[in-house]
Amino acid sequence: MYDAIVVGARCAGSATALLLAREGYRVLLVDRSAFPSDLPFSTHYIHQSGIARLKRWGLLDKVAASNCPPITKLYFDFGTFVLTGSPPPADGVDVAYAPRRKVLDAILVEAAVANGAELRTDFSVNELIWEDGRVCGICGREKGGSAVVEKARIVIGADGMHSTVARAVRAAEYNTKEPLEGPYFSYWSGVEMKGFEFHPGVYRGAFGWMTNDDLALVGVGFAAKDHPSVRADIEGNYLRAIAEDAPDLAERLRNGHREERFVGGVVPNYFRKPFGPGWALVGDAGYLKDPCTAEGITDAFHSAELLAQAIDSGLGGRRPLDAALEDYERQRNQAAFPLYEFTCQLATLAPPPPEMQQLLSALTGNQEQTNRFFGLFAQTVSVPDFFSPENMQELFGQNRAVGV
Ligand SMILES: Cc1cc2nc3c(=O)[nH]c(=O)nc-3n(C[C@H](O)[C@H](O)[C@H](O)COP(=O)(O)OP(=O)(O)OC[C@H]3O[C@@H](n4cnc5c(N)ncnc54)[C@H](O)[C@@H]3O)c2cc1C
Repeated sequence: MYDAIVVGARCAGSATALLLAREGYRVLLVDRSAFPSDLPFSTHYIHQSGIARLKRWGLLDKVAASNCPPITKLYFDFGTFVLTGSPPPADGVDVAYAPRRKVLDAILVEAAVANGAELRTDFSVNELIWEDGRVCGICGREKGGSAVVEKARIVIGADGMHSTVARAVRAAEYNTKEPLEGPYFSYWSGVEMKGFEFHPGVYRGAFGWMTNDDLALVGVGFAAKDHPSVRADIEGNYLRAIAEDAPDLAERLRNGHREERFVGGVVPNYFRKPFGPGWALVGDAGYLKDPCTAEGITDAFHSAELLAQAIDSGLGGRRPLDAALEDYERQRNQAAFPLYEFTCQLATLAPPPPEMQQLLSALTGNQEQTNRFFGLFAQTVSVPDFFSPENMQELFGQNRAVGV
């Protein structure tokens, strides 16, 4: 009998397993993948707040040593003007990194195991085991093996957006929004990026940054409504969007070489009830939003910390587990709701409404407020703080507010 079984061993699952194992709990961590392996449909920029958690867990040095350059600047090129700067640091961490998932997830899995979690890879969970209306284990199998049942005091679904655990417990969804946009991206050699680059167009936007092995990840987000036509000619639409909206980046690509195939698609937006009798959800299994602000990994780390604290206080007997998990949901949502709405608004990729245009013009030449604006992405400035009447007054020099 384990204390916890964690289904899914990437950003959310390995982080949760690591934190629980470190507290002395007996943890089984399973994944249908083997590691190191890439997660094909995900870019992988980690903002300062996420990097600060890697530092706290003792893993930042490993990311930094993986031939992945630190990124300190955001560079948003609106064609007629550029906003560039660095967000306020998170717990003293002023750099971001964008390690490939085959690098990051392997570091997390190894750390979970080094802290005492038991790992089974190539292991698919097919169903949950129930006793008296409570989840008490999993049934799964290793590739080519026969069915195995394992039991635990809590089963944690960290198994991503198509979560088997969420489906099995019929986790209720709320605040759902249809897919708004989705990127197509690839990796280029011989291309230098200026930080976290973003080149907004109309119902599309080019973006990119440096990752491991001197490769640049370069993508274009397309509005969901345009995906059927984009799919008909991915490379043509991708190159045309970059040539029209980001000529300087297009020039850099002409001198570079595309090293990998294009990957892409659209992404839904939802919250799921993240706990119930004998189960919990963490990471994308419990909460997913559009990737245009690149927050999923940072959020998965944050949720893993909140969930591990709640489970520790419940299983450790300091408070009833259900009450601790209720707090987990409340804290997760409190942190996530404002950024969720901000992200979903950006993800329409619509031309900025007049109020947002005024805000962007007011930021030009105001480096401190530009850095604070970038802090929204790094999660070092909160959406309510930035858009508060006091901050808008300071920015515009008069009493007015910008709605998001
Ligand atoms: C196009 C795109 C771009 C993105 N870009 C960024 C970005 O730049 N920065 C960022 O922070 N986030 C980004 N994200 C979001 C980020 O990828 C996710 O938030 C993050 O991967 C969530 O981690 P997770 O551990 O919850 O789930 P996942 O990373 O999806 O891992 C789930 C794991 O569960 C395993 N699994 C699933 N079902 C089972 C089962 N039944 N049995 C056993 N194992 C199972 C899978 O094999 C997988 O390894 C992007 C997402 C998309 C779609």
